[in-house]
Amino acid sequence: VTKRTITAVEALPLRAELPHTLRTASDAKDSVAMVLVRVHTDDGLVGYGECMGRWAPLAYARIIDDLFTPRLLGRDPFDAAAIWRDLSRSLYARTGGMLVEAIAGVDIALWDLMGKAAGLPVFKLLGGIGRSEVAAYASSIMVTDDETTLRDAERLASGGFSGLKLKVAGDPVRDLERVDAVRLTIGDDVKLFVDANWAYDLPTAARVGDALADRGVQWLEEPLVPEDHAGYQALAARTRIAIACGESEFTAAGLADLITSRSIGFVQPDVARAGGITETRRIATLADTCNVAFAPHVGFSGAVCVAATLHLCAAAPNFSVFEAMVIPNPLREELCVETPGDPRKLTPTGCLSVPEGPGLGIEIREDALERFLVTA
Ligand SMILES: [Mg+2]
Repeated sequence: VTKRTITAVEALPLRAELPHTLRTASDAKDSVAMVLVRVHTDDGLVGYGECMGRWAPLAYARIIDDLFTPRLLGRDPFDAAAIWRDLSRSLYARTGGMLVEAIAGVDIALWDLMGKAAGLPVFKLLGGIGRSEVAAYASSIMVTDDETTLRDAERLASGGFSGLKLKVAGDPVRDLERVDAVRLTIGDDVKLFVDANWAYDLPTAARVGDALADRGVQWLEEPLVPEDHAGYQALAARTRIAIACGESEFTAAGLADLITSRSIGFVQPDVARAGGITETRRIATLADTCNVAFAPHVGFSGAVCVAATLHLCAAAPNFSVFEAMVIPNPLREELCVETPGDPRKLTPTGCLSVPEGPGLGIEIREDALERFLVTA
């Protein structure tokens, strides 16, 4: 067996301004950031990964340079799980948080390398279901005024999406009024998903959840603060709506209690946060074992995260629906020669195609790197 070794690792912090402020119940963004990870091997291959580094991207780049690169040089990218374990121990007694987000970028790059070395797309390498396209919903109608809400709903539904997500602000009466107005606009055939971005307490979430169940909403996403796992478990017993969460969590261990207790109907890890493809696959597999659906998060992540997510969706037996981002984000729309998961390329049945080239199947634009690179 040929041994292929890592010869260089680059961590490139990127930032782009958004054309206008985008609001959820928990924050408002004027810009987006990420860290692009580029790993080189001795036989001339280059793999790309992405860390969710929306704030302080330089700090993630420093973690990769100082802590990870010495542990990566000379290693074989096919030893991805061993490398994951080594990197997770690089802070010794501390794990989770930024460390796992930084590992995610390296791990995705290793899978890109493995695919390129094997001449196979990552979803084939994962040995899963092998879908060539995935069902998609439009994400999201942000927290905004009624006129914009209904105009967006109309545009997305008539644009061929079979489902769309509405962000709510945390006032239950007002939130349900917006849900009703959107439902009236899009009709009964388009699926509706509601994302509360931690806006409610437990009794309110239970009440709103039942009201949403009565309105045929598919799921209520992140109704509670993400660290309140006991709250999520209590909520599951008190409401009839399926709960979705996981975008704020790290690793399979971080989601094991919510999955194994069947408190959530949909698990939503972000591959660029939860620990890359190695760890997100573990989450999907654990969820599959417990009959919980896999509906991963993309949000404000960049194009590499989108591609890695498409491959995981294509492979996972319990995949439910892909989050097709329709909000502007230059790091998603301008980073690749061909944008993965481009919502303008929906199939007639509301699906998006999975990249079929080797590895992640994406080509990074060097001119975009220069434009978005954060130097200090
Ligand atoms: Mg969300």
